Amino acid sequence: MTNDKKKIIIGNWKMNLNMQDASLYLQRLSELIKIRRDVEVILAPTTLTLQSLSLQVNLRQFKLASQNFYWRDHGSYTGEVSATQLRGIVQYGLVGHSERRHIFCESDKDICNKVAAAIRNHIRPVLCIGETAWERSNGETYDILQDQLIGGLANITSDELSQVVIAYEPVWAVGTGQNALPTYVSAAAKAIRGQIEHLYGSAAAKSIQVLYGGSVTIDSAADYLSLPELDGLLIGGASLNAHSFSEIIKKAHKGSSTGEKD
Ligand code: PEP
Repeated sequence: MTNDKKKIIIGNWKMNLNMQDASLYLQRLSELIKIRRDVEVILAPTTLTLQSLSLQVNLRQFKLASQNFYWRDHGSYTGEVSATQLRGIVQYGLVGHSERRHIFCESDKDICNKVAAAIRNHIRPVLCIGETAWERSNGETYDILQDQLIGGLANITSDELSQVVIAYEPVWAVGTGQNALPTYVSAAAKAIRGQIEHLYGSAAAKSIQVLYGGSVTIDSAADYLSLPELDGLLIGGASLNAHSFSEIIKKAHKGSSTGEKD
């Protein structure tokens, strides 16, 4: 269904790696990975290191993403960084990551404003959605996905939707070592496309890029990447090691079934 689209692999470093470590990591990863037209590799370091990495990175090889930003463009918002300030430095921005929603109490309203701010500043938003363990055990997964999609995309037109990437990240799977089964992810990705079809039509449902994130490792990556409903992965822990991350990227390459060697 979506096999002709580019795969996306995002490494979310969360609050790890200082400037020197980030620079060394980038150097190492660029030695391990060939430039591939069928895979978009995106690194999401801390805001602190973004600018220096943007000067070091070869954009034909890797793109950069912010992990977070504030939705207003400028003003008296002490401690915040805006999408306007990130413009030209990053090509993507994570929005509504479960750690932002649940630790920093971001609401659907904040998230919807951030999606719009990213698009207005020519940054592709990666809208993260997913249910908690409690919501899952109460059979609410699809309602949550629907609510978070409707909430996050509230201000987004059909034209703008082409800029949006959706990451399905069940909260119970993020950073826990408890990854969701591929059949479960496949059903969730279908539900997400079904909701996009309802909101924006069938062409949008087919073309939107849907990723999975949640405790993916070198060993589990290929099973997700073979799902026709999925366009890639959002990786946290396993992206912190350049070797592991490069092995996952190789599995996303079209010619690879088990991990092509460069
Ligand atoms: C994430 O940070 O989005 C993530 C999926 O983390 P992990 O791979 O560590 O679960």
